[in-house]
Amino acid sequence: MSAPLTRRALLFGRTAPAAPALRPPWALAEAAFASRCTRCDACVRACPEQVLARGPDGLPRFDAVAGECTFCGDCAAACATGALDATLSPPWELRARVGDGCLPAHGVVCASCREICPESAIRVPPGGRGAAVVDAERCSGCGACVGICPTAAIALSHAPLEVPA
Ligand code: SF4
Ligand code: SF4
Ligand code: SF4
Repeated sequence: MSAPLTRRALLFGRTAPAAPALRPPWALAEAAFASRCTRCDACVRACPEQVLARGPDGLPRFDAVAGECTFCGDCAAACATGALDATLSPPWELRARVGDGCLPAHGVVCASCREICPESAIRVPPGGRGAAVVDAERCSGCGACVGICPTAAIALSHAPLEVPA
């Protein structure tokens, strides 16, 4: 049986690309993380926002569709193996990216992402006159804008900030 179409697919005739696994905040680089993590699920159980879940590979993942990371630190505090290292700063390099399903880019008024963003990192041209724009320097990658978007137009991806020379 084929997967149900997303609202975005119905509106725009395409499906969202498969997203790479996003790890919890303060996770080591992927190879080191996979090596250190014992798949104990302590971080998953510790998360008060329930935005962490065990993935098909047995490793914990951050699911921004489920909600927002508040950077409370409970996951890193619960990790006894060092796979999550609370001394890392910033906790991750995730940034929100707006895709072509953004309603204002198609003349429809919407500002749900701007209204929920705790960092005031999103600008939306008024009157449905252009897509939402994310200020990458303000964005914390918290994911609050991801699940609220009615067309699933926002995704998180790794985008290291450029460090001035
Ligand atoms: S920092 Fe807090 S809200 Fe974010 S993933 Fe960890 S436990 Fe959950
Ligand atoms: S608490 Fe640490 S070792 Fe356990 S599943 Fe989470 S990241 Fe892996
Ligand atoms: S990920 Fe969080 S901080 Fe970044 S634009 Fe979305 S709501 Fe704002």
